[in-house]
Amino acid sequence: MSDRFQIISQKIDSYRNDVIELQRLLTSIPALAPESDGEGEIKKSNALKDYLKRQGFPDPEEYNAPDPRVPSGIRPNLIYKFKGTDSSRTIWVMAHTDIVPPGDLAKWKGDPYQLRVEGDRIYGRGVEDNQHGLVAAVFAGKAFVDLKFVPKYDIGLLFVADEEVGSRYGIGYMLDNFHLFRKEDLILVPDSGDPEGKTIEIAEKSICWLKVETTGKQCHASRPDQGINAFAAASKLAAKVHALYNIFDHKDKLFNPSISSFEPTKKEPNVPNVNTIPGDDVFYIDCRVLPKYKLDEVESLLSKWAREIEINDNVKMKISPVQRAEAAPPTPENSIVVESLKRAIRKVYNVQGTVCGIGGGTVAALFRRQGFHAAVWSRIHESAHQPNEFTDIPFIIGDAKIFAHIFSEG
Ligand SMILES: [Zn+2]
Repeated sequence: MSDRFQIISQKIDSYRNDVIELQRLLTSIPALAPESDGEGEIKKSNALKDYLKRQGFPDPEEYNAPDPRVPSGIRPNLIYKFKGTDSSRTIWVMAHTDIVPPGDLAKWKGDPYQLRVEGDRIYGRGVEDNQHGLVAAVFAGKAFVDLKFVPKYDIGLLFVADEEVGSRYGIGYMLDNFHLFRKEDLILVPDSGDPEGKTIEIAEKSICWLKVETTGKQCHASRPDQGINAFAAASKLAAKVHALYNIFDHKDKLFNPSISSFEPTKKEPNVPNVNTIPGDDVFYIDCRVLPKYKLDEVESLLSKWAREIEINDNVKMKISPVQRAEAAPPTPENSIVVESLKRAIRKVYNVQGTVCGIGGGTVAALFRRQGFHAAVWSRIHESAHQPNEFTDIPFIIGDAKIFAHIFSEG
């Protein structure tokens, strides 16, 4: 096995220029969700399909989620399957093709959709999130294709749509409509990580975004007696949000930070001028709650405080969830996917992998909620969603070896 891995490893080292070229191709085709005024992923997905055909990959299975909001009418999801000597389990690597918008172009050095190479580092929207993992998965697979090696277990490479806006047309669609996965499968999601390639994410906090709408009565600021200041009333609740830290104060060392978090965040503009008392106010709260607590407990306490303010200040307060996801059961620390990753990390990067939980929001939770063992891992700098997003070519090559190690070992 180790000789075989040696050969695979050397093969992957020879792909450096191919890595750059595939990154260049993928970066040049923006794949934005309709929520971001985009046309979806079809062009990028088709370009990837053509590329992989030229590389000798088998034809993919295609699972197109219907979405009338995009011109093509579909959000494409691709599966590339490679048969192993033992088909009792499949080792999956899942990456997403969609990106987030580049944001303020003035903050970019160059065109976000034109790959910039500086030594070992590449820049462009999507190069890390999630083309880093996607390209690593491709070249792990390509090594098996080029060497005509048969993997130990079946391999499944999943290139999905719609990760950035909630996965409804991506992996969520596939999980809800098809039986593609088995409990004994290993699921790797290279969509988060650290620059040493140490951290294996196996658990998430519950996540809850709340919108707080306060209604008072607008009036001239010189006559506060004629109105009700919605902003002032809402501020009382905003100021109380931090009290939740003391109430839901359990610590869990698996997570960083180890505590639940409760933060008032976005504030919608109210009146445009200083001398008007605002009759309406809207702000938002971001809660990341350890799996030990139920989101209901947090929400009902906030509602109770809102009722008190309503009575005191004679306003109406409405609290509604904008996003709400109860934590999924964690992937066990001693699961095969975690153990295989740790062995591969030790072999390729010579570091000890450690498990952790995060503040919520990766697609792995969708798998975990259905009882599948998914681990989120990659070696990246975490520049996702930022201007001048970047990643390092040696990390892509190294991560490809990690996947190949798991493919060859099972
Ligand atoms: Zn991502």
